Amino acid sequence: MPRSIIIFFGPPGSGKGTQTNLLAKKIKLPAISMGALLRQEAKAKSKMGRHIKKYMLLGKLVEISLNDKALKKRLAKKDAKHGFLLDGYPRNVDQLKHFLTLLKAKDKIIFVTISLSDRQVMQRLLARGRLDDKPHIIKKRIKDYHSWNDPLQKLAAKTGIDLKINGNRPIDKIQKDIQAKLKPWLND
Ligand code: AMP
Repeated sequence: MPRSIIIFFGPPGSGKGTQTNLLAKKIKLPAISMGALLRQEAKAKSKMGRHIKKYMLLGKLVEISLNDKALKKRLAKKDAKHGFLLDGYPRNVDQLKHFLTLLKAKDKIIFVTISLSDRQVMQRLLARGRLDDKPHIIKKRIKDYHSWNDPLQKLAAKTGIDLKINGNRPIDKIQKDIQAKLKPWLND
């Protein structure tokens, strides 16, 4: 059976993580968050752990080699055999190109983009208050998001099924919309 790989795009705070987890439960595939995998690695008292922590606190992207290591470890688990959902990865063209080299020919790849305005992103992240949710870091993450996102979206549209979702709605409405738009593309 081909694997279904569903990749969520959207600015920080767009609800990607929440929507990924809701969908994962519904379609019984694991939700994999690169941010969460890296936060886990950052807890280790190793050189790699300290390095990842430093990058995350600066709002900088961790190098491909490091997130690749974390991702491969996660994808090797049994529960990802029939597919998985990804949140926070790939984040730019280089990461997407790299990710595509890890796939098998039969894999079905679906992109779900959740959109949200910059003002809404700022408001939501300030309300969330995570360690890296400080105004100057948020501004950098929004700026980075825009510069990486346009080319990423172009490549994604050429690569797989490309679904667009309005993120400025209640959580359950967004989830319903995602499920409806995905339905024709998923195995039963
Ligand atoms: P997130 O939880 O997705 O907001 O990510 C938090 C932080 O983890 C980011 O600011 C980066 O430092 C790091 N990170 C998450 N995803 C990636 C990725 N795909 N590549 C590199 N670094 C990442």
